[in-house]
Amino acid sequence: MRTATTVKEWHSYGGRVTGVTLSDGRREEVDAVLIAIGIDPNLQLPRALGLPIQSGGVQVDEGLRAADGVYCAGDIALHPHPVLGESIRVEHWEVAKHHGRGIGSSIASGHAPVTRLPYFWSDQYDVSLEYRGHASGQDRAIWRGDKEGLHFSVFYIRDGRIHAVLSINDKKVNEVGGKLIESRRTVDEKTLADVSTDLSELLPTAAG
Ligand SMILES: Cc1cc2nc3c(=O)[nH]c(=O)nc-3n(C[C@H](O)[C@H](O)[C@H](O)COP(=O)(O)OP(=O)(O)OC[C@H]3O[C@@H](n4cnc5c(N)ncnc54)[C@H](O)[C@@H]3O)c2cc1C
Repeated sequence: MRTATTVKEWHSYGGRVTGVTLSDGRREEVDAVLIAIGIDPNLQLPRALGLPIQSGGVQVDEGLRAADGVYCAGDIALHPHPVLGESIRVEHWEVAKHHGRGIGSSIASGHAPVTRLPYFWSDQYDVSLEYRGHASGQDRAIWRGDKEGLHFSVFYIRDGRIHAVLSINDKKVNEVGGKLIESRRTVDEKTLADVSTDLSELLPTAAG
């Protein structure tokens, strides 16, 4: 993965792409090229139904209801997340899967806020990546663990609270991080970054 660089020049031989020169001057040889330019959700059907469209998605309530008898899940749902306190639209499998269950609960009970935090994981060779919550460009990033040894987590903090946690080969911290997000407790950044702190001790006890 090459970050902070763009493709400056393509190289080809015999009608096939064979390499790229990057804007930082490096040249990479390639067997194949995949161009990922992003996607837009298909809002044709919600538009035809006259559902409220905002920020590229369908505005739903906490229980994923967009209008009387109409519910939206997954990529197209702009969901006011009751735990995170903001409207989010997330393009990940686990979110779409859980939204389906959430809609089932909402329909069965009349109204059930969907509270599960957004989550995704990916395994890339010896790197296991997990992410819980929803960070924004305004968050402060607090690192914890061994960056060079690829065993660390990054907490994304806004107004003293954790909004997201990204972990590399650090599953336990990611799980506790999720609970800390759900607790909505304010946290001390130095304590979070200190690997000698047992993060589960920061969680609220039954007594509060
Ligand atoms: C290249 C790629 C890689 C991805 N990799 C990952 C990954 O590694 N991990 C991860 O968590 N997520 C990944 N995602 C995101 C993940 O695929 C989506 O978040 C997930 O599929 C969303 O589910 P969904 O049901 O909301 O939408 P979709 O899976 O897009 O399903 C929507 C369906 O509605 C149909 N449809 C649309 N309009 C109409 C209509 N008018 N009438 C009838 N049918 C209609 C569409 O044809 C489609 O089948 C990836 C997405 C892409 C594009």
